[in-house]
Amino acid sequence: MRALLLVTTLLLPVAAMTPPAPTKASRLEPLRVGQLQVWRLQDGRISLAASLLKGLDAAEARRMLGGKDAADTPVNAFLVRMPGRTVLVDTGIGKDPEEDSGHLTEQLAAAGVAPSDIDLILITHDHFDHIGGLLKADGTRAFPKAVLRVARREHAFWTEDPSRLPERLRDRAPKLKALFGVYERAGAFRPFDDGEELAPSLRALSAHGHTGGHTIYAFTSEGQELWCIGDLIHFGAVQFRRPEVGVAFDLDGDRAVKIRQELFREAARRKVVLAGAHLPQIVRIIPKGAGYEAVPVP
Ligand SMILES: [Zn+2]
Repeated sequence: MRALLLVTTLLLPVAAMTPPAPTKASRLEPLRVGQLQVWRLQDGRISLAASLLKGLDAAEARRMLGGKDAADTPVNAFLVRMPGRTVLVDTGIGKDPEEDSGHLTEQLAAAGVAPSDIDLILITHDHFDHIGGLLKADGTRAFPKAVLRVARREHAFWTEDPSRLPERLRDRAPKLKALFGVYERAGAFRPFDDGEELAPSLRALSAHGHTGGHTIYAFTSEGQELWCIGDLIHFGAVQFRRPEVGVAFDLDGDRAVKIRQELFREAARRKVVLAGAHLPQIVRIIPKGAGYEAVPVP
């Protein structure tokens, strides 16, 4: 499974990139949540094999995926404009010659925003498809005026004691240190502790399970809530209806299921707008049967 293999691949830029095709993206219109403006920016797409699903028999998985053995899955970042701040949540895969990826900059342009307009970057977790757009091909910061923030728990999980990680992931610590080091040397890398308020009406919710410090970002405006949920869910066609179904990417599978169930319950109760890194639409969820139905927010 290519996506699984990619988790272990080098995150630093690839030399001799071919120039990107001219941008033809038309203007992207934001969704409004209170005073927030929210854009789903699709950096790329990956194919997720049905066999990655845990706790669901193969025939049922195939049925829920519309008769297919894999789900064609977007890789999203989210742009959130709030009073006084322009925030980017995650940065996609970045340019990779073997992937349909690296479209974040042109998507930002279609939203009317330049990389230098971003003043805050929030990372949900350190997987390749969330941090791949942080650097330009020349190894400098893609977002030169942004402060980069990651949960200290997540940063420590990957970099402080690699012996706790599955063997296939142990080589990632030096690569991550090098990547974040580019921002750190510019005084622009600020890990945060659990419970720290990141800005007025913006808080981080610890949601570890998928990774050791996976984090959700909760924005509030005029009584409405937007949660950027990162990888709380991968298969939109399956895991809303069956939140107890896990995926092979979850490093602590039991905990990932538990936190998904807890946060979906709360999101449904409070009618939270959910922006998922691997969902094709921004949604609200309503209880249905033993799970939820996802309703796209227009
Ligand atoms: Zn992901």
